Amino acid sequence: MSDYDLIVLGGGSGGLATAQRAAEYGARVVVIECARLGGTCVNMGCVPKKVMWNAAQLAHAFDDASHYGFKFTRQGHDWSVLKRGRDAYVARLNDIYRRNLERHSIDWICSRGSFIGPNEIATDNGETYQAPYILIATGGYPTVPEISGAELGITSDGFFELEQLPERVAVIGSGYVAVELAGVLNALGSDVVQFLRYDLLLRAFEEMLGQHLMTHISGSGIELITQAVPKGVHVERELVLTTEDKRVFKGFDCLLWAIGRSPSTGGINLETTGVQTDAEGYVAVDGYQNTNVEGIYAVGDVTGRAQLTPVAIAAGRRLADRVFDGQDEKRLSYDNIPTVIFSHPPVGTVGLSEAQAREEYSNEAVRTYISEFVPLYNALTKIKPKTAMKLITVGDEERVVGCHVIGPGADEMLQGFAVAISMGASKSDLDDTVAIHPTSAEELVTMR
Ligand SMILES: Cc1cc2nc3c(=O)[nH]c(=O)nc-3n(C[C@H](O)[C@H](O)[C@H](O)COP(=O)(O)OP(=O)(O)OC[C@H]3O[C@@H](n4cnc5c(N)ncnc54)[C@H](O)[C@@H]3O)c2cc1C
Repeated sequence: MSDYDLIVLGGGSGGLATAQRAAEYGARVVVIECARLGGTCVNMGCVPKKVMWNAAQLAHAFDDASHYGFKFTRQGHDWSVLKRGRDAYVARLNDIYRRNLERHSIDWICSRGSFIGPNEIATDNGETYQAPYILIATGGYPTVPEISGAELGITSDGFFELEQLPERVAVIGSGYVAVELAGVLNALGSDVVQFLRYDLLLRAFEEMLGQHLMTHISGSGIELITQAVPKGVHVERELVLTTEDKRVFKGFDCLLWAIGRSPSTGGINLETTGVQTDAEGYVAVDGYQNTNVEGIYAVGDVTGRAQLTPVAIAAGRRLADRVFDGQDEKRLSYDNIPTVIFSHPPVGTVGLSEAQAREEYSNEAVRTYISEFVPLYNALTKIKPKTAMKLITVGDEERVVGCHVIGPGADEMLQGFAVAISMGASKSDLDDTVAIHPTSAEELVTMR
């Protein structure tokens, strides 16, 4: 008899969610996790990032406060207080995750695991474990380019270890992690230069979001350098970044690579199982999270699809429903996944971009509604950043297939609209909904 019904390799968002749901159905489960429980999200991602974003939001609020009549001067910021509080919160979460495993009678092996066969895992501490079902939930890690001096930079993991605020930072990247960390550093007082490979931020999203964000970011004091492909990094007292086109950027005390993530499939001996990966190393799965080998599944970032915590969790729970509770058709739909970019101001987005809608449907079928306005909050402030919204509909019935917002409150605005869009809401459904006044969100139900 096998030791367990399910071995979960990786105790992050996807692995823990699957393990707990499976245990609720009576499965005997072991989680093999070589680092702190909770994975990227809890330890080096969403959670500590949001704490930092909150701090940055406060910094921006202090800047605005005098326009609302407050009289005070901002007397610096103590990074160590923020880091200590953040680390303590994360440690509390690690402990909650550990206790949750105990409560579900799930064993946790604190070690690195790798396959020694399709049903068997060996751990670095010399044990082997067998089960008919194995879940690969090993996530990913930040990519560092293969150029000289790259090791002089840090990644998002290193960002969360910084003991003090760097004075002058080069942030390399144009995706959401780059945008978020550059925004935090800038708000808390670093001099930030952000390097983009092309000309636009957030290229994976609806184009108007990146365009508006670039206006906001430039206005906030971050210097944006476009068409910059890093060639090397070296030290001349401080860090120097050179680009392919021979430009030289000097004077950094910190350089942060935020150029994407790679799957953690390298060290787990997948070869012994026959599980297929794609050209970038992501585990190939079908719509039910099945790999090509029976009994081996994968969820979360390691599959390369919609790399977000709620996606990993939802895919894992549905997989457990299917395998351990006989709910044969349970699977995650990867359509209409909402997400937020915690920039300043935040971005909320769900569904197709205009370009995707035009590609998927005919040009004639697509209609867009756009709104730009200065939110009421900024009526009194000196800087008047514009909120921008875009709705994308298709067909005569004008089904809403995309909703994109950049502006204060966008982060909390989109969850409800995502429900409506998932249910197939049309533009007239939005129009028939009474607005909440005075808010920015009301604009989404009054667009013409
Ligand atoms: C800076 C940053 C900010 C982010 N912000 C957000 C956000 O705001 N919202 C959001 O939804 N998502 C966000 N994400 C993405 C989110 O963190 C991931 O999508 C999510 O953590 C993926 O979960 P996972 O279970 O697939 O992998 P992970 O959470 O990465 O877990 C994988 C686990 O596997 C372990 N592991 C790897 N190899 C082995 C092995 N051989 N043996 C044992 N254990 C192993 C790792 O130690 C890790 O704990 C952010 C990511 C980053 C980097």
